[in-house]
Amino acid sequence: MNQEVIPDNWDTQQHILVILAHPDDPEFFCGGTIARWIKAGHKVSYCLLTCGEKGTQDRSINTDTLCSIRQQEQRAAAAVLGVKSVKFLDHPDGYLVPDLILRKEITRVIRQAQPDVLVTCDPTNLYVRETYLNHPDHRAAGQATLDAVFPAARDHLNFVELWRDEQLEPHIVREVWISLPQDPNVIVDITAHWKLKLRALSEHVSQIGDREQLEERMRSRHTPDSSPENPRFEEKFKRLVLG
Ligand SMILES: [Zn+2]
Repeated sequence: MNQEVIPDNWDTQQHILVILAHPDDPEFFCGGTIARWIKAGHKVSYCLLTCGEKGTQDRSINTDTLCSIRQQEQRAAAAVLGVKSVKFLDHPDGYLVPDLILRKEITRVIRQAQPDVLVTCDPTNLYVRETYLNHPDHRAAGQATLDAVFPAARDHLNFVELWRDEQLEPHIVREVWISLPQDPNVIVDITAHWKLKLRALSEHVSQIGDREQLEERMRSRHTPDSSPENPRFEEKFKRLVLG
């Protein structure tokens, strides 16, 4: 792994747009890094492609109810971290496909928000660990988002109606940070932001079950070179510098 020293010491305030599939993805994948960026004065906003309305084993709950619960949980978690805005595109959970409809919608969001930095996840990652099969929505979200960054958001003749009819100017995203990467090139030490990440995660009540168990499970993810008494935590990314 080609590890760089933290490359997020930007000189000016960055607008960082996080585009992922489900409520709780931002906090689970990169909540510590988001906290770190906001603390450093950067502006972060979210776009979630679904409301995660199928994420339950509870047979008594319907998808409409779970959708609104999860949207509220996501807004509360974002508020804990200091995220400026949360947008939902309302695609059906579990059925996300990186088609041209989704690519166009994400292109619209990118052109509206005009982020300096965009965060998504790795579309090539089929399994994150030996015990975790990656959700197909995560892969689809990563694929559609990367395809929207380039060339669709950049070149005005891609989805020309966005430029012609909606007056949305093309936009070049300067950096893309890909979370859950197969092949990371950036490791962010989030130890100082670990507690805030956990506090944000704990807002996703419908997903986490017992809070103490979650904390224990998350704590076990400390780096191999640290101890349970003095744990250190990291989040990894593939960082692409495009513009
Ligand atoms: Zn997810």
